[in-house]
Amino acid sequence: MNSSHGENRPIVFYGAGSEAKSRLAAWEGAGLVPACFADGDAGKHYTRLAGYEILPLRVAMERYPDCDVYLTIGRGRLHDATQYLSGQGIPAERIKFADPVEWRKGCDWLGRMVNVGEDVGLCCANKKYRITASRHGMAEQIFSEWFHLCEKHLDNMRNNRPTACDACPHMREDYYSAGPPRPVVLNISSDDNLDYCNFRCSYCRQFSSYDQSRTERRSAEVLSIIRHFSEVCDSETANIELSCGEPAALPMCDEIFNFCFERNLRVAVFTNASIYKESLANLLASEKCHLLVSLDAGTRETFRAIKGRDMFEPVLNNLRKYAIAAGGGISSGELARAGSPRRNAIHLKYIMLETQNDNEKDIGSFLDFAREINAHVVLSNNSNARGNPCSRHTMGMSQLFAKKCAEQGLPLTVGYEFFNPSDAKALRKYMADSNHELQQA
Ligand code: SF4
Ligand code: SF4
Repeated sequence: MNSSHGENRPIVFYGAGSEAKSRLAAWEGAGLVPACFADGDAGKHYTRLAGYEILPLRVAMERYPDCDVYLTIGRGRLHDATQYLSGQGIPAERIKFADPVEWRKGCDWLGRMVNVGEDVGLCCANKKYRITASRHGMAEQIFSEWFHLCEKHLDNMRNNRPTACDACPHMREDYYSAGPPRPVVLNISSDDNLDYCNFRCSYCRQFSSYDQSRTERRSAEVLSIIRHFSEVCDSETANIELSCGEPAALPMCDEIFNFCFERNLRVAVFTNASIYKESLANLLASEKCHLLVSLDAGTRETFRAIKGRDMFEPVLNNLRKYAIAAGGGISSGELARAGSPRRNAIHLKYIMLETQNDNEKDIGSFLDFAREINAHVVLSNNSNARGNPCSRHTMGMSQLFAKKCAEQGLPLTVGYEFFNPSDAKALRKYMADSNHELQQA
């Protein structure tokens, strides 16, 4: 199989989802023009995407029996989709890829993620593979180090030479982009005391006392890294994850949020929502931004005990304002009446902590609030970091949490990687057995 084109057979694009939406113009520009889309989602059948009809695969194949089928889905699903299409009797030589890919060892981050913390990393999975570089005011150097390191690793993998990644559980053989490294995800974070945060969460190592000149330096550096990333990234699919302490406490946060807004960049802002910023609300309204907020509590007392600050109500009020700014807050009767689109602009996280918040009262109130602001819920844990499995009670509460989300129709992502492996396995089994319609992380 390859992604060559120029033959005269009709083309069917398989997959009419977000990948197709964002890449269609580029594919058309390269001469790939489909006769129609095919998609497995019955809800899309006989509707249109950019003017092209979306058909069930069987109907598309009946209509265009000698077509080439181009996969227009996310890279992570290519392997399953090729197997599926082969199983439907489509010859291997007629299954092609809309973007050039290759089969090799790799992972979801290698050649795609730039991780800038205390040093520069290829991923956020394992510190062993990070390189160090002086970063202050030297965004260009950060990216050149990153390109060099990625190319070296990719070359080794393509030639089946051993790499430092070999022992990593994330490495697997799959389809990956065949081109040179191209940053798609920028993660600006810090593990150890690099960034300032005004909270003192019981499970977090990344806070420091406020140091004005250091925070100002860091603030300018964050802006410069984002500027540089916006110049070298694939802007259609690029994502920025901003999790450096409390981003809204950076002195230049308005410039940072405004820059992302002006450049139409997709950004996930990891914030504790204790500081309300108009510039962030404005960015949220652009629909390319979402917030990730670890609330971890449903009551004031639990919040104060976990977060080290008595700010439960102010945080809820700020989140309500952000939800309204995003057009997703169901608390806004005005927006609802105006027919504003609702979306899950706020990802509300619950890190299940033994003896701290693993109780029905906190879980129930947390989920009530998630419903109020139309949030996407994230269930997580920190037992993987500690290496210990959760108690039976805590696991039972995690299951109850998932069950309540399903009952209340709340979209849920489970951060399995943050659970101890045996707990993660048990939780996955619970999800599968209970047949919840849950989004898997
Ligand atoms: S294989 Fe593992 S260590 Fe290597 S880049 Fe990927 S996640 Fe990082
Ligand atoms: S709000 Fe986030 S960065 Fe701040 S202490 Fe808590 S977990 Fe750490």
